[in-house]
Amino acid sequence: MYDLIIVGGGPIGMACGIAAQEAGLKYLIIEKGYLVNSLYHYPHSMTFFSTADKLEIGGIPFISQNSKPTRSEALEYYRRVCMKHQLHIHLQERLIDVQSSEAGFSITTDKDAYQSQYLILATGFYDLVNPLNIPGEELPKVAHYYKDPHPYFGLRVAVVGAANSAVDAALELYRKGAKEVSMIIRESEISPRVKYWVRPDVINRIEEGSIKAYFEAELSAIHDDHIVFEHQGQSKEIANDAVLALTGYRPDFKMLENIGLEFSEEASHKPLYDEDTMESSVSNLFLAGVICGGLETNKWFIENSRVHADKIIGELKRRMKG
Ligand SMILES: Cc1cc2nc3c(=O)[nH]c(=O)nc-3n(C[C@H](O)[C@H](O)[C@H](O)COP(=O)(O)OP(=O)(O)OC[C@H]3O[C@@H](n4cnc5c(N)ncnc54)[C@H](O)[C@@H]3O)c2cc1C
Repeated sequence: MYDLIIVGGGPIGMACGIAAQEAGLKYLIIEKGYLVNSLYHYPHSMTFFSTADKLEIGGIPFISQNSKPTRSEALEYYRRVCMKHQLHIHLQERLIDVQSSEAGFSITTDKDAYQSQYLILATGFYDLVNPLNIPGEELPKVAHYYKDPHPYFGLRVAVVGAANSAVDAALELYRKGAKEVSMIIRESEISPRVKYWVRPDVINRIEEGSIKAYFEAELSAIHDDHIVFEHQGQSKEIANDAVLALTGYRPDFKMLENIGLEFSEEASHKPLYDEDTMESSVSNLFLAGVICGGLETNKWFIENSRVHADKIIGELKRRMKG
């Protein structure tokens, strides 16, 4: 019987583990992939928008070469944190089912079964993409995650979206030898939320014609050698070799519903929780990290959700004392 099981070995699940360890709780972190699995799957050349100090957890300083760390520096940092704190974590183990009763939670994974008095879900949102739901989306030339530019060298690539991931990918593809980079953008401008030091770069590349941007455009079909989209009321076709649909991500709502969580009626569809304790609508089940924003995936980051760990563990200490 554990005091606490934490699902998700991202930065915030780790922060919860460290706080639980410091409070003397019997805890376990369950992670379905690698340590900080989402960060591992970010683009290889990615740089965080946060400065290194804002990504720190467990009181361990994060030293990076420049003020904003790279993905590989972050991976190195979180590995170090895990080793230093000797966190109890099971990697490559996926949560399958949670049943709650007065006695606590019965937790089933693809490897084992556990009992725990309390449960934290820190499962993030990066595993599920917002699909395009158009013909051709299943073709092998379509990807929803961008890793590195090499496979796109010499190809005509369409990037769907206009937020940070899409803009970073379009700029890198243009600079690393894609034959042609087109952006298919539903809105009438590049998202105002794009990093303030990157936005002018992409706007200038579009204005000079290095990157072709179709604003107020919506992709309607993907074929082997071309794509079709609606552009300002007209149907257009362009030759194409690869599509990067970088249209955002969403938490695993199905899993959360199966566990019995309730959600806000707002467009964000965020799971309901108490902002002081982070307890969800299921008693003794807490939420931590970016999962708390629901579809509003730009609300929570590592830097502003690290505090969830101390809020939750502080509350557990109060309850366990009482
Ligand atoms: C490209 C990009 C750049 C970003 N840059 C920054 C930045 O500069 N600064 C900042 O503060 N934030 C940034 N963010 C946001 C933040 O880094 C991430 O969202 C961060 O990973 C959130 O941490 P988390 O622990 O809440 O969730 P995650 O890191 O997503 O961790 C969730 C973990 O849960 C695991 N999991 C999911 N389902 C299961 C299951 N059923 N069983 C077991 N394990 C499961 C996943 O494998 C994953 O490892 C960025 C996000 C993106 C996409």
